[in-house]
Amino acid sequence: MIRTTRVCRALVALTALIATAVACGKEGSPPAKGPAAGELPDYQVVQGFQLPSSPTWERARKRGHLTVGAKEDQPYLGEKDPASGAYSGFDIEIAKMMSASLGFAPRSVHFRTIASANRETALQNGQIDYYVGTYTINDLRKKLVGFAGPYYMAGQSLLVRTDENDIHGPQDLAGRTVCSAAGSTPYQRIKSDYPKAKLVSYDTYSVCVDNLLTYQVDAVTTDDAILIGYAAKVPDELKVVGKPFSEEPYGIGVPRGDNALRFALDDALEAREKNGDWKRAYEATLGLSGVPAPTSPKIDRYQGG
Ligand code: GLU
Repeated sequence: MIRTTRVCRALVALTALIATAVACGKEGSPPAKGPAAGELPDYQVVQGFQLPSSPTWERARKRGHLTVGAKEDQPYLGEKDPASGAYSGFDIEIAKMMSASLGFAPRSVHFRTIASANRETALQNGQIDYYVGTYTINDLRKKLVGFAGPYYMAGQSLLVRTDENDIHGPQDLAGRTVCSAAGSTPYQRIKSDYPKAKLVSYDTYSVCVDNLLTYQVDAVTTDDAILIGYAAKVPDELKVVGKPFSEEPYGIGVPRGDNALRFALDDALEAREKNGDWKRAYEATLGLSGVPAPTSPKIDRYQGG
């Protein structure tokens, strides 16, 4: 009974972020804390910016705005307000400051939600100009897309219910059910390195979290930055355990071969880190989950691609 009420309360709180109706009686939690629009930095638009050597930028110029892929259910990183349709979070701020650096007003960006498994295809068939959504740079993906950055360093971790006492790290997953998103690096790592875990996948982590709260799975695994956000929304129900067990450098995905765009974004990230925009954006978004601003990672302007 107590368990049902707690789970209901947690689900009601999570409803705000995943926009799913949950019938749990009249109990509810106050809306989770987030930055008001006025507290977010304003990014100065670079006037007269030109990048004719980038086919992606040229297409956006003719269209009049950038179309950017993102996540919509990752607290403090990429969230979509179900009422207004507005996106917010650290990744969204990165996308907006990049837009300003490419000569487009940040408020003109058209965001599209793209799940982890569909990112490469979306970039390959021109559905989006670039992608900012907890997207790990790795060699396998570099065969399909390009990456600017990294702009943040995360690490794979585990989220469990607060009443779970036996899971402290990936070695404790043998015989337990763990959930991750299809097409993600954390899913792949459990599959190859911890084959005794019972691994299940969904399109999004928020569905995994729902399944955790309702005792369908024992743990959710993905990057610590994502899991900390879910735990911060319902700290009585969920906790992040153990130490991060991978390195997940976040990059901005671009169509493969458009190196003009990739290097322009590398320049833009460097400039926004130098002028303080990166830190201001972090503090107004991901920093609200309680983790102080780390130093931003060094940009890897790799050749080829
Ligand atoms: N950073 C990891 C990845 O790119 C996990 C987060 C995500 O799925 O977006 O696969």
